[in-house]
Amino acid sequence: MSANGEAARKVTIIGAGVVGMACAVHLLRDGHKVCVVDKEAPGQGCSFGNAAILSASYCVPISVPGIAWQVPGWLLDPLGPLSVRWRDMLALTPWFLRFIAAGSPARSTASGISLRALHKDCVHDFQAFFGSIGAGHMVKPNGLLFVYESEKKFASSAADFEIIQRHGARLEFLDAGQVQEMAPGISKGCVRGVFRPDDGQVTSPLGIVETMAAEFSRLGGTLLRREVRDIEMGADGPTRLICDGDNLDLDVLIVAAGALSAKFSKRLGSPVPLVGERGYHVTLPDPGISVPQSVMSAENKFAMTSLEIGLRAAGTTEFAGLEAPPNYKRAGVLLKHLKRLFPSANTEGYSEWMGMRPSLPDSLPVISASPHFGNAFFAFGHSHAGLMGSVITGQTISDLVGGRTPALDPKPFRVDRF
Ligand SMILES: Cc1cc2nc3c(=O)[nH]c(=O)nc-3n(C[C@H](O)[C@H](O)[C@H](O)COP(=O)(O)OP(=O)(O)OC[C@H]3O[C@@H](n4cnc5c(N)ncnc54)[C@H](O)[C@@H]3O)c2cc1C
Repeated sequence: MSANGEAARKVTIIGAGVVGMACAVHLLRDGHKVCVVDKEAPGQGCSFGNAAILSASYCVPISVPGIAWQVPGWLLDPLGPLSVRWRDMLALTPWFLRFIAAGSPARSTASGISLRALHKDCVHDFQAFFGSIGAGHMVKPNGLLFVYESEKKFASSAADFEIIQRHGARLEFLDAGQVQEMAPGISKGCVRGVFRPDDGQVTSPLGIVETMAAEFSRLGGTLLRREVRDIEMGADGPTRLICDGDNLDLDVLIVAAGALSAKFSKRLGSPVPLVGERGYHVTLPDPGISVPQSVMSAENKFAMTSLEIGLRAAGTTEFAGLEAPPNYKRAGVLLKHLKRLFPSANTEGYSEWMGMRPSLPDSLPVISASPHFGNAFFAFGHSHAGLMGSVITGQTISDLVGGRTPALDPKPFRVDRF
């Protein structure tokens, strides 16, 4: 029997990213026998290099009314926040059309409500989860500071402010002097700031996954290093994982393979419009400065966060095929912006990285039971917010597997909504 009186199951999870590992720990705590399969060590996918932000106030989807008109300007600016690998454009067009459709007033409002439900307690949930395994120090409820380099950008963000406040998240509006006080050393070109006190950060994105993996092993979970090539199907659902090592017989399967989940979801009869939305980071090991809380550039849509290992600037969006090589010029763009905002930062010895956000057109993840098979579940597609959404996703998936009604209404996150 599981901890909640349900029959214990043998659960196999594809993916040891932050989402898969959060599911794994919750399911083990529920009394199930859990195995996580990944081709890499835990946390080496997108979860490796994110900006570390936990944003309880994150409730504005990426696609909003009017987004289509902003895209050409971003694409034309070589230092802008968006780029596309043009040879992959044809294959990406259906996704873009869905993305623009998801920005209608009605649909973006609905996505905003679901994003708020998903994220509103994330800082508290992280404190409770990591506190329970002796790692509460990895979570900092220190807020998030947005900075604006022009009055025009600040004024054009009024609709976002209204949405965030309508959802009950707090915003504190700052003048240039107050921005200087909150982010010592920041460029005097920052004319406005907005502080989001309900937000926070972790001290190490990779450390978070490794801590979950250590807890998972301590509780008796099994981590296997294998590439999953295919899923063998029986009449009642998936029966076996075909791997590059020994194959694995299945009782319950959870797909949490990040940006590479679409082929498994399709195999299970649930195709999804998932893309790998590439982002980059640069990490400065000895920056000579630190930021008391993450600082987000409103104009250039990237974040700077002080981590255990240095100062990280992370962000930008690049659309390209799943197999395309990284274009580290995008990381160079981040470095330029970082130097402009913090001119005294020491960039010596910096490292750069590219990761693929698992992105769906409506900015919502899939957190869902299979509509076809009683033994298949999905946990992927968290896009820009997979760190902050991981703990609640793990809780929700373990409720679904256990046949309980989750605290989070899972309807907006169904796999068959497309
Ligand atoms: C630049 C950048 C900044 C970001 N900043 C933030 C932030 O501040 N806050 C936030 O909440 N989110 C942020 N994100 C998003 C966040 O990092 C992702 O949403 C999250 O990491 C997704 O986690 P995941 O577990 O779904 O995927 P992943 O971490 O990619 O894990 C998926 C795993 O599946 C494995 N896998 C895939 N296919 C197979 C296979 N066939 N066989 C075996 N294993 C397989 C992979 O090896 C991988 O380990 C950011 C992302 C980027 C790129």
